[in-house]
Amino acid sequence: MIGTITLNPAVDRRYNIDILEKNTVKRTEDYMASAGGKGLNVSRVARILGEDVTAFGFLGGNTGDFIRNEISKLGINDSFTSVNGTTRTCLNIIDDNNDNIEILEKGPVISKKDKHKFLEEFELQLERLDIIAMSGSLPKGVDINIYSDIIEIAKKYNKKVILDTSGNVLLENLKSNPFLVKPNKEELENITGIKLDSEEAIKMSAHKILRRGAKNILVSLGDNGMYFFGEEGNFKVDIPKIKIKNTVGSGDSSVAGFAYSFSKGLDIQEVLKYANACGMSNAMEKGTGSIDIEKVNELRKKIIVRKI
Ligand code: ADP
Repeated sequence: MIGTITLNPAVDRRYNIDILEKNTVKRTEDYMASAGGKGLNVSRVARILGEDVTAFGFLGGNTGDFIRNEISKLGINDSFTSVNGTTRTCLNIIDDNNDNIEILEKGPVISKKDKHKFLEEFELQLERLDIIAMSGSLPKGVDINIYSDIIEIAKKYNKKVILDTSGNVLLENLKSNPFLVKPNKEELENITGIKLDSEEAIKMSAHKILRRGAKNILVSLGDNGMYFFGEEGNFKVDIPKIKIKNTVGSGDSSVAGFAYSFSKGLDIQEVLKYANACGMSNAMEKGTGSIDIEKVNELRKKIIVRKI
């Protein structure tokens, strides 16, 4: 069973229209609402891989109910904590020229009591989880150290935690020694201030993060694959060229692929193949956080993992 944590989920609403114009009324039949948030993408992909998933985080209001309904349709166990206020809606209006406007709501403010309830619920279920993936930004009201609080609880039960977030939230929570972090190239450049224009620079930056407390680090590079640095050595993953449709959610799919294959006890090179194949398969689909199992299995055979 994989546990996922999405502290700041959202309902993603997409509307496709012909052209964005001021002061007009548009009608469309091409629109969709989906359960959004990086941790929910991880949950979906892990489910497609055939894994049992329990999802934690905060949900409130009718948008919260919408997400509960969506995840139950996918067979994801719902352990979200109910809060006052209404889960965010993130609105994206896209036109035929690919111009778009995005509007992000603020979302509910999480109280100390909500946080306490959430940590209690998490600890109650921890025994059943093989690995935990925590992803994304923090909602209002939550202290920047919340990810460390979660990792400290998980340590008591010897459970491994993957932390996929960025900026200060990532930096501040390295001290509690997450099992794995997964910045992409830009995120790693932002937190280290080092331009990643060579393998040497990537290696140096990754080791900076390891020295600050992470046990392992994946640096994802979009169509250039991935680097891994950690307890079982250093590796570069080379991937074949693919035809892409939508790369949003590829990083989350990689996290799901890693968590799934690692929890099955596969060796690190196979785990890295899964992580990349899932990211690639997501990039080949229109939906965010969606993969095709057959493609994942084909891609795994074409991915090369080199020790560096
Ligand atoms: P994030 O979504 O966090 O920015 P990446 O874009 O680096 O993460 O994607 C994660 C993984 O998904 C990559 O390491 C790669 O395996 C795959 N991937 C992403 N974009 C592409 C692409 N354009 N072509 C091929 N593979 C991709």
